[in-house]
Amino acid sequence: MVYDPSYWYEQKRFEFESKVESSEGKRVILKDTYFHPEEGGQPADKGTLNGYEVKDVQKEGDEIVHHMENTSHDLKEGKTVKGKIDEGFRIYCMRAHTGAHIVFGAGREVMGDINYSGFDIGEKKARIDFETSSRVDRKTLSKMEERCNQIILEKRPVTWKMVKKEDIENSEDIAFAKKIPSGEKVRVIDIEGWDRGVCSGTHLSDTLEVGRIYIVNKKKLQEGVTRVNFCVGKEALRREYGEKRSLLRATSILETDHTNLPGKIKDLLNSRGRLEKELEELEALRVEREIDDCERYPREGYELLIQTLQASTEHSDIIAHKAKDGVGPEEVLVLVNEDQGISVSVGVGEDADVDADHVINELSREFGGGGGGTSRFAQGGGFKASSQEVKRSVLDYL
Ligand SMILES: [Zn+2]
Repeated sequence: MVYDPSYWYEQKRFEFESKVESSEGKRVILKDTYFHPEEGGQPADKGTLNGYEVKDVQKEGDEIVHHMENTSHDLKEGKTVKGKIDEGFRIYCMRAHTGAHIVFGAGREVMGDINYSGFDIGEKKARIDFETSSRVDRKTLSKMEERCNQIILEKRPVTWKMVKKEDIENSEDIAFAKKIPSGEKVRVIDIEGWDRGVCSGTHLSDTLEVGRIYIVNKKKLQEGVTRVNFCVGKEALRREYGEKRSLLRATSILETDHTNLPGKIKDLLNSRGRLEKELEELEALRVEREIDDCERYPREGYELLIQTLQASTEHSDIIAHKAKDGVGPEEVLVLVNEDQGISVSVGVGEDADVDADHVINELSREFGGGGGGTSRFAQGGGFKASSQEVKRSVLDYL
């Protein structure tokens, strides 16, 4: 027997009468049902049989099995039952399913080389997976979304017919389902002039009924496979207006309109870049001034210059440069930096009888940490002491 469910013929029938063919515990099979089972990415219909909640609907072979919420129901074999399908949820599924075919058509038009790789309808959004070698960026998605909504407005008829499997196996325009189900004929959904695809789901009668499509985002699943998440109907509008409200907030904060917004943001980023550069230069100047302003202690044969600083790592080159090349012949410069722990740089002039490396070794022995260098220039860090303690120790040692 070829699978030929009633919901294909009356896709918007939400109430029906039928007889129970078999009933066993929570499992109920009807002579005829309009409940759509979970299949091909479309979730099972929600609803009731004689007022009893249907929890799940599954296809077993060619039979549709209603799984009831519990066993306390009166759905005995031979009994006439009234089926009621949750219309809101089913319409949502039909919008999403029809929407998927529209999105697929848009993908083919915008990206060209695509194949179908998967589809699923979630509670709020649906997804369609494309096989494509094209780069799918925001611009691609925006173009696709625009085309989708144009196609919706064109109110293109959505029809279906059974087609011999071999008649479509080699037709290039049918790419929606890779795995063609077994059987002599398959069901082909046709959005007039836009997309043809093998599909067993429920669809609306024209594209206008989808209302709106909003492409949420994309995700690269693996090389050559991209998932596109989209919303339909009210949820699409809700997201669109959410986006618009954010845009309005941004324009009001920046006191401009949406056409001038990108330029305004660019200007702001440029001026921030300039300010950051200026700040950086000022900061460097401050560090240099502090170094020049160090305390001086006359010693036998040389002068000890010492200063504690707060200089970030970006200015460590200034410190190194000063300690290496900015020391007079009879000077010893010790810079204690408090940024992220205590570090010390020692520079020794050519006529001063002091070994920079020894100073660092002495500090390491007293306060832990480590470092080293030459007799003229040495650096160390990780000392477990305050800058004042380090400074006192240097004053004692030198
Ligand atoms: Zn479909």
